[in-house]
Amino acid sequence: MRIRPTGLVALLAVSALTLTACSSADDDAAEPDVADSSEVAEFPEGSTMATLAEAGEITVGTKFDQPLFGLVGPDGVPQGFDVEIAKIIAGALGIDEDGITWTETVSANRETFITSGQVDIVAATYTINDARKEIVAFAGPYYLAGQSILTLADNTDIEGPDDLAGKKVCTVSGSTPEANLLANYPDAEVVPFGTYSECLEPLRNGQVDAVSTDNVILAGFAADNDDLEVRGEPFTEEPYGIGVAKDDVAFRDWINDTLEASFEDGSWTAAWESTAGSVLPTPEPPAVDRY
Ligand code: GLU
Repeated sequence: MRIRPTGLVALLAVSALTLTACSSADDDAAEPDVADSSEVAEFPEGSTMATLAEAGEITVGTKFDQPLFGLVGPDGVPQGFDVEIAKIIAGALGIDEDGITWTETVSANRETFITSGQVDIVAATYTINDARKEIVAFAGPYYLAGQSILTLADNTDIEGPDDLAGKKVCTVSGSTPEANLLANYPDAEVVPFGTYSECLEPLRNGQVDAVSTDNVILAGFAADNDDLEVRGEPFTEEPYGIGVAKDDVAFRDWINDTLEASFEDGSWTAAWESTAGSVLPTPEPPAVDRY
């Protein structure tokens, strides 16, 4: 059961109901519920956790066009592993799905959306790195990806990053794959777009020879399109974090606790298996980095 307090009164009422439910026959479910509700009630006053829990609302920045991680479905709601991780975080605040506002973030605007307060958290295939840590903070990682390459299935001359010399490579502005190509593969001609899905048409019509970003994003496109293929092994490390405001140490620490709990209680694995796990093998949860 997830509780959805819409204010302090509702919160107390739900806590009381949950405590009453302890004596119900559903003993397995009752224990975590009690822990959850007391956790909600005990958030330090003035903390982001308390503010969000009392409002019963959270705004999450995620991708809207990436299969397996964040892709808007026919109902207008995004689906994917990032989306499920955000739901786990919201759920631990006592916020159910109705209390989540999904906001599209693209690679280039994630830091700005956090610093401007347009979103409370970002869960969007968001690589933790030092440059970004200057602007925002990260909880996690909750997944370890790596940069890879997508080509047309009938392409015969690109098997890895060293084959990109002299080729046009579509990627996304403000992403780590873009930065890596520019810094380490100067003979590749980088063609930046705003989102990865925008790279597919140029790939099909020959405007570009390849698309490069994280292996799991490309795997999602390849799974949905028989004419596309992921090439070679990942050639960078892309640890995915939850982006939060840089100075909000308590919120970051609490999200780290929540992620670790999800690694332990099976909810992280369930989130994977119901989304990216339809295409990719189930990994071990990574170690959280409390930098
Ligand atoms: N994980 C990389 C990044 O955060 C690439 C994927 C993306 O652009 O979202 O830049």
